[in-house]
Amino acid sequence: MSGANRMIPPKELLHFLKKENDFVIVAHISPDGDALGSSIALSMALESLGKKTIVYDKDPVPEFYKFLPGSERFTASLSSLKLQFSNLILLDCNDAERAEIGKLQFTSSAVIDHHETARDFGDIKWIDPKSPATGLMIFYLIKELGVTVTKEIAVNLYAAIATDTGNFRYSNTTPGVLRVSAELVETGANPSYIAENLYETWTDSRFRLFLKVLNTLEIYNDIAITHVTLEMFRETGAAIADTETFSGFPRKLRSIKTSALFREIENNYYKISLRSKGRDVNVAKIAEIFGGGGHSNAAGYNIRSDFKAAKEALLKAFRERT
Ligand code: 5GP
Ligand code: MN
Repeated sequence: MSGANRMIPPKELLHFLKKENDFVIVAHISPDGDALGSSIALSMALESLGKKTIVYDKDPVPEFYKFLPGSERFTASLSSLKLQFSNLILLDCNDAERAEIGKLQFTSSAVIDHHETARDFGDIKWIDPKSPATGLMIFYLIKELGVTVTKEIAVNLYAAIATDTGNFRYSNTTPGVLRVSAELVETGANPSYIAENLYETWTDSRFRLFLKVLNTLEIYNDIAITHVTLEMFRETGAAIADTETFSGFPRKLRSIKTSALFREIENNYYKISLRSKGRDVNVAKIAEIFGGGGHSNAAGYNIRSDFKAAKEALLKAFRERT
């Protein structure tokens, strides 16, 4: 299925969504615009069909995504998930571990995702690595369910697609993406309002952290490495969510093919974001070596180690893979 063409959701997924009446919609930890917008849009669509939904993410909605209409639907508390909600829909990831759902009980599960690294989870799977965003899949799913796309749904899906295409700059920006996005704009999504909220609303603490991060730049041939320490988070008051997009900046250098951002989230525990440009380096394959995953130009993993050893392990993986 190509991003340029209409996507057709599997029949068993449509059947599942039509037949069942209550759903827990869950997206991955550290949710981004695609995870959030897709979840809210699907929740709104299913509720317009008379279904009940709960929208869960282990992590809270970052401040700069709170402009998304319906963002208050997210709960971060598993205890609020009532037992009768037994149908799980996992979005923008394909493994329950990546959503850290813990002991959440469910009897049936469906996965809707576009990552190229896939685990064997879910009774019903719709995983299309060629899809530019989960939000695009949700758009076609909603249409197939016969739901009218409202302005609120349009804003969420546009933000989802904008996030995962780097605001329509990455190689996944297909004619299909632009056609669907144009339709979402006609339905009421305002590109400049959404772009302003996504990219022009940094807090002082986020900006101060960004300045510190840029000063950590190290270059190893065509690989750029930056890092954030726990102390930098403390000094600036910024949160981990504030580092979204930081990893892409060193890639702006003409000589750089790959960029890695190390964030210390606990003592000797790092979350790493990898970004590459062009087709030379598939960072999903590198992240997979360390138990993570993602897309060929954007991927991530976590590692328990000190910074020096973690960095050396990554550079070694690059040397051996490329
Ligand atoms: P980010 O670096 O922005 O957190 O993530 C980049 C891409 O890689 C996203 O599509 C994200 O879902 C994926 N990703 C990031 N970290 C992990 C991870 O630990 N495991 C897996 N499977 N995917 C990840
Ligand atoms: Mn996505």
